[in-house]
Amino acid sequence: MTILRALRRKATKRKQSGWKVQVVAAVALTKKGNVLGTALSVPSEIPGIRQRHAEGILMGRFGRAIHKIIIIRVGRAGVLLPIDPCPVCRKLAERLGIIIEEAHND
Ligand SMILES: [Zn+2]
Repeated sequence: MTILRALRRKATKRKQSGWKVQVVAAVALTKKGNVLGTALSVPSEIPGIRQRHAEGILMGRFGRAIHKIIIIRVGRAGVLLPIDPCPVCRKLAERLGIIIEEAHND
């Protein structure tokens, strides 16, 4: 899937630019499969600053225009790792009628 490849490239690039932690990236899609936008999770390595989740950022930005959000987590070696939306994001997605899906290596 081209969208996922682009998302993965974006996450990997961000890692190379200095983020030491794993990077979570998300893409928001409409019902027709059009891309509304993408986001990266902001890492929480800085003490006292709450992490902003990529899926949460997208829901804040596009709300009910979103049909589905696909999330990936890119580890140190650039491989995809398992990722689950947190309870807060999951509840918000439920309320908005948004599907959150995890992308797998293929
Ligand atoms: Zn979350």
